[in-house]
Amino acid sequence: MTRAVKLLRWYRRHGRDLPWRRTRNPYRILVSEIMLQQTQVDRVKKYYRSWLKQFPTWKKLAAASNAEVIRAWAGLGYNRRALALRDMARHVTKNGVPKTETEWKSIKGIGPYTAAAVSAFAQKKRTMPIDTNIRRVLGRILLAKPYSDLKDDDRIAKEAESFLPHRGHFYEVPQAIFDLATMICTKKPECMRCPLRRDCPVAERFLSGRVRIPKRSTPKSKERHHRDKRYPDRIYRGRILKLVREQDEVSLSNIGPLIDKTFDKTHDQAWVEYMIKRLCQDNLLQKTKTRLTLPL
Ligand code: SF4
Repeated sequence: MTRAVKLLRWYRRHGRDLPWRRTRNPYRILVSEIMLQQTQVDRVKKYYRSWLKQFPTWKKLAAASNAEVIRAWAGLGYNRRALALRDMARHVTKNGVPKTETEWKSIKGIGPYTAAAVSAFAQKKRTMPIDTNIRRVLGRILLAKPYSDLKDDDRIAKEAESFLPHRGHFYEVPQAIFDLATMICTKKPECMRCPLRRDCPVAERFLSGRVRIPKRSTPKSKERHHRDKRYPDRIYRGRILKLVREQDEVSLSNIGPLIDKTFDKTHDQAWVEYMIKRLCQDNLLQKTKTRLTLPL
């Protein structure tokens, strides 16, 4: 039995039942992939359903205004993704649904990972989307590296060709790897429970405790922080947007103390203005002389 077949058997019994795994609709798959960028699966589940209720098709989403998509995205964070997704829908409505990975990649905002994911999950293409989870698992199985990094992606992509079967449910292999990565092949893997234990060149090393588990596997965040503020700017920008979403319009003079209890006009006013400027540049807000509103 090949490694992929063993993995798929395990996946049939233990894989997660996620709503976007019950569809092959490219629109629904793309929505899930964009939401899953930087957001946890459990959180996405809730928003995925309500988003599809409000925007069930490419066409409905393409026709939505900035304000509508910003409101519908409320709570998911990284709000620029909402406008980007709407713009992708406009592209597809105008040019048709892409048929190849290269065509998906030609849409603004869709990178190699998302293009491969939509091609595999919606269009049953034999391709491997590589994210941190897939890199970790395949780096171990295919390259015998307990901890691979970004530089290994080309080799992993090349070797993945031998891992993916030519027949059967090869398009489900990446989903099975995601689940293995989440449940068993984690940073500190539980190789005893792994269906690929006998095929994995690093299993023995992990089982005998010969691998040093790194303290941090992801680089420290480079997000901007203002002075001694508790959170990165991203959190305060989210608070500004939330205020405007909830109140329709907000007076510019009130914003500082409303988003930060420790706001100090002398040291923080320019910082708040800078964040508002960025939100306006990203088309998430619009500003008059005295007030902020959502863009049309
Ligand atoms: S045997 Fe261990 S290291 Fe290898 S794939 Fe399974 S869990 Fe990961």
